[in-house]
Amino acid sequence: MTQLRAGAATDVGRVRQINEDRYLADERLFAVADGVGGHQAGEVASQTSVETLQRTFEDGEHTTEGLIAAAEAANQAVWQLAQGSREKRGMGTTLTALALVQEDGEEQLALINVGDSRAYMLQQGELIQLTEDHSLVEELVRDGKLTPAEAQIHPQRSIITRALGMEPAIEVDSWEIIPYTGDRILLCSDGLTNELSDERIASTLRQIANPQEAAHDLVRQARAAGGSDNITVVVVDVVDDDGRSKQASAALAGSEGGTGSTKVTTPPTVQTAQPTVEDTAMRVAAPPAPAPAPEPPSRPQLAPPAAAVPHRRFTWRVALFVFALLAVVGTAVYAMAWYARGAYYVGIDNEQVAIFRGRPGGMLWFDPTLVERKQQPTGAELLPAQRIELEAGHEVSSKAAADRYVNNLRQEVEARRASTTTTTLVPPTSTTVPPTTSTSRP
Ligand code: MN
Repeated sequence: MTQLRAGAATDVGRVRQINEDRYLADERLFAVADGVGGHQAGEVASQTSVETLQRTFEDGEHTTEGLIAAAEAANQAVWQLAQGSREKRGMGTTLTALALVQEDGEEQLALINVGDSRAYMLQQGELIQLTEDHSLVEELVRDGKLTPAEAQIHPQRSIITRALGMEPAIEVDSWEIIPYTGDRILLCSDGLTNELSDERIASTLRQIANPQEAAHDLVRQARAAGGSDNITVVVVDVVDDDGRSKQASAALAGSEGGTGSTKVTTPPTVQTAQPTVEDTAMRVAAPPAPAPAPEPPSRPQLAPPAAAVPHRRFTWRVALFVFALLAVVGTAVYAMAWYARGAYYVGIDNEQVAIFRGRPGGMLWFDPTLVERKQQPTGAELLPAQRIELEAGHEVSSKAAADRYVNNLRQEVEARRASTTTTTLVPPTSTTVPPTTSTSRP
């Protein structure tokens, strides 16, 4: 049996009057919903969505399809309510949900998302964002019109392009995840991710083993960082994977030729003395706002080198420490150099398409170096979309991939030239399709 343990926390924040976020932390179903709409309609939307999701999932099949169907039912329920009264018209909610499901006799995690609440996975200490935001700025980032850094501070970053309750039918993004002991999944509303960087979220999730404490601490930090929106966090730990990670490590050891030296790191086991999710009923109440939170502890600092500490005799222990420190720093520098120099990108140099080694704009003290200038296509021949992409620098993993990419560019340019010369009567029309549903949050 795959076993999960979860913790959850929500807070109104320091600016808003009402908490329109809702969460669900059941035995096998977890969700975060962030409601949108005036006159407290946002609350109704998020509440209705998690209630309907829970009821429909419990009554239906415990599969990925079952979870998607439950999200669609939640959309229907919010849509119906929204049609029923003038105050509620236009209300909507995000929904990000995780469920333990059965697929082909195997236990898996199913994840669905609509809107800009997010799911992340912490696996072997690394934090990966699983969901893709359905928001205006994220679409601009995907189209290469904004950088992720610009998106982070964009004034319209809370405009979502997909939400439950806006249309009678909804497109639901879904993923299937094979759970391994030690995996930790985070569901959260944008009130967390707008306040805290991914690095800070990752370090908190790494440092606090208990999921309930981790959830509380993330909410506390987001409040301390400004708390300009409602903050909701659900942390789900895989505490038992039914022997799956042991099988995987055995298979890996076997494939390494049975040297016996292959060491598969076992993720830290989470203490089992802590209570599991306190109740199986839906918990939607926002707890009273905690007392003004103290500033979060800063990141652990590296100890000063031994030489800086006076009145301390040189000992082997100090020598070992210094050696270990140098090894860590050396490895980090080497890894950064490898990262900075290990890739190629295609850009523009002197109005010519060119291949560079390194990262666009350089990284640390490693500036990109010009590898090759291409004769065709020239900078002036590039299509507008290609030009935008190349000005930002199109990253690829190898020189061969860069060559292939330039080849494709040339073919696109030639195809466009051929089509415009033969069909001069019909100029290519480019229609920009506006996002179908845009909901601005107050
Ligand atoms: Mn929000």
